[in-house]
Amino acid sequence: MPVPLLDVNAQNLPLESELQAAFSQVLHHGRFIMGPEMEAFEKEVAAMTGARHALAVSSGTDALLLALMALDIRPGDEVLCPAFTFFATAGAVSRLGAVPVFTDICPVCFNMDVNDARAKITPRTKAIIPVHLFGQCADMDPLLAMAQEHGLKVIEDAAQSIGATYKGRQSGTLGHFGTYSFFPSKNLGGFGDGGMLVTNDDQLAEFARVLRVHGSKPKYYHHYVGGNFRMDTLQCALLSVKLKRYTQYTADRQRNAAHYTAELLKLPGVVQADPAHCKCQSSQDSWLSAQKARIVLPVGYGHNGHIWNQYTLRVLGGQRDALREHLNSRKIGCEVYYPVTLDQQQCFANLPASSRLGCEISHRMAGEVISIPIYGELTEVQRLEVVAAIGEWLNI
Ligand SMILES: *Cc1c(COP(=O)(O)O)cnc(C)c1O
Repeated sequence: MPVPLLDVNAQNLPLESELQAAFSQVLHHGRFIMGPEMEAFEKEVAAMTGARHALAVSSGTDALLLALMALDIRPGDEVLCPAFTFFATAGAVSRLGAVPVFTDICPVCFNMDVNDARAKITPRTKAIIPVHLFGQCADMDPLLAMAQEHGLKVIEDAAQSIGATYKGRQSGTLGHFGTYSFFPSKNLGGFGDGGMLVTNDDQLAEFARVLRVHGSKPKYYHHYVGGNFRMDTLQCALLSVKLKRYTQYTADRQRNAAHYTAELLKLPGVVQADPAHCKCQSSQDSWLSAQKARIVLPVGYGHNGHIWNQYTLRVLGGQRDALREHLNSRKIGCEVYYPVTLDQQQCFANLPASSRLGCEISHRMAGEVISIPIYGELTEVQRLEVVAAIGEWLNI
């Protein structure tokens, strides 16, 4: 039986009548831009995350761009971001003429290595963008302390982690800005593009609000050059229907992850990453070889509420693509997030060499990772099918 990587219909179709009612409501009042459902949805996200301000925007990418614009990031400024993330994190920096400076990551949680980031701070460094990859928060306490010490602005790229927690605090609410995405594959998946910008700072919120509508206030009077970064009323209305169920969606993903971990650990050559090895690559390597590990399972740190946007395995010994082909042949959905690190992207080849130093762990992860289906509606039978296909490959 095929198992897709993601099945958006499994989550959305049971809501069909409520979604249609939301659509009808917007259709009838006709306020398609900045209508009442937008404000309602913003309030709901603010309530869920505890952020003082939430601004619905056109995408997670535009949320990042708007945050950088509101923080006045300019050409030549340096912005630290991880090498191992989705392109938008660094793309938004480049679009303002600023320079993304790439940091390496931790091989256990896949998030920014704060010590590496510290080593790459220069007098031109203005901001830092930790990404909470795959649904788990980066180690924010040391990162925030470092940012404060060096006067850096902090934008949390929480596109994959809305509702995740770090020491009980909500992802996206710890820095100057947090950004969420409602791209259909994210945990709160929309019906097209959408995103949210959150902040606890009244002045930054007000400035971002103005920049969201071409920098105009009042209308047709422009003190700044902004953009059109609005989210459709309709999209907000539809997402409100899903937000009500978000706690359950997260619980379903967490149950799936726990089930995978329990079942996969029964297979020969499978171990789970050990949080004790965070940022300690060499001891991790000797431990993994002592275990004769072939596959390393992901782990959520005890202080993190992991929401499992992805369940990402590391396949050791140069065998990742072989596992990928095997899963493809068994019609088990899988994907490599991400096959090429950002410091190695063609479009960044002309950046100063100093912005692309020392990302060895990121390079290695790009060659080892593979993500398997984790969406909430996966059935137990489907999960066991995925586990069986991996077991079959290990025993080949
Ligand atoms: C998805 C994603 C984005 C961009 O969000 P869009 O809504 O697709 O523009 C940014 N950063 C990360 C880490 C993402 O996963």
